[in-house]
Amino acid sequence: MPINGTSSFNRSSGIDEPQLEAFELYRFYHRGDDETAALRGISLQLCAGELVALLGPSGSGKSTLLACLAGLEEPDGGHVDVMGQRLSRRPEAVRAGLRARHIGMLMQSGNLFEHLTVEGNMSLQMSLAGRKDRGKLDALLEVTGLAGRRGAHPSQLSGGEAARAGLAVALSAEPKVLLADEPTAEVDAATETVILDHLVERCHGNRDMALIATHSKALASRADRVLLIRDGRLVDA
Ligand code: ADP
Ligand code: MG
Repeated sequence: MPINGTSSFNRSSGIDEPQLEAFELYRFYHRGDDETAALRGISLQLCAGELVALLGPSGSGKSTLLACLAGLEEPDGGHVDVMGQRLSRRPEAVRAGLRARHIGMLMQSGNLFEHLTVEGNMSLQMSLAGRKDRGKLDALLEVTGLAGRRGAHPSQLSGGEAARAGLAVALSAEPKVLLADEPTAEVDAATETVILDHLVERCHGNRDMALIATHSKALASRADRVLLIRDGRLVDA
């Protein structure tokens, strides 16, 4: 399991194609006179077909990095390219369009619209990306163990169910790039294994890419590569 920021991934079946690239990302937060440097010069390349785990202590910048990579937050320095197109410092409509077409994002919370059911949230995500394959929706509900909860509203879901529903939504448009913030934090071991099998299959079978912030050893052990973040910087093990 190589540990570094640039891709050393090389599978005999294909050429390395960076699907997501970050160049010298900086992100600062200010509260009164206090400044937090959440990201301090992060560069990385994530390629087709790889499942990458992002590990680091609480407060190290994992969520900030994922939000910047998804274009949900603007970096204060540096930029992000997705599928060869500039995402950073583009008008919100352009960023939203690139995100809908290429990126599935699972945040730590706030992934579901309260007034829609689980299935409704998934359908909305599919239609934003211009997709219609209902069969995929059923398969994803099965994988995430939510087949019996498709008609539930977010307020009726447990923490683990909400996380799984968020993942189902993030995957429903079959994004080339999946960014997931601790997707299995509140999920039991058996369900985590099923979800992991699915993520590995997407990456290795479809040559999709996933970057997953996690504290899970099981998840890290299944990753092609592990990135370690400390105090806003990628570090060696
Ligand atoms: P992680 O996901 O690894 O726990 P975060 O990206 O959430 O780390 O946070 C990185 C640092 O930035 C922490 O010191 C955190 O307190 C700070 N931070 C994150 N979001 C904000 C915000 N909206 N306002 C102020 N500080 C923030
Ligand atoms: Mg976080």
